[in-house]
Amino acid sequence: MERGICKRCERFFIKDHKNQDVCEKCYQKEREEYETVKDYLFQNKGASIMNVYLDTKVPIKTIERFIREEKITIVDTNT
Ligand SMILES: [Zn+2]
Repeated sequence: MERGICKRCERFFIKDHKNQDVCEKCYQKEREEYETVKDYLFQNKGASIMNVYLDTKVPIKTIERFIREEKITIVDTNT
């Protein structure tokens, strides 16, 4: 059994699988936010992180993490 620290709430949790980086509680929320951001970017190509944040209310920290993990692509990262 492997333990990890949740990237969202920074609590310890037991990993179900190796690549799991958020706890079960946050996982659902994270999926919802990912879908929201992905849909937003699909409809608003070229949007900046700030645009995404203002329109979706998904925390900038989370958006930046999605970018780092290459789940989404933001063209304009200067804002
Ligand atoms: Zn968590």
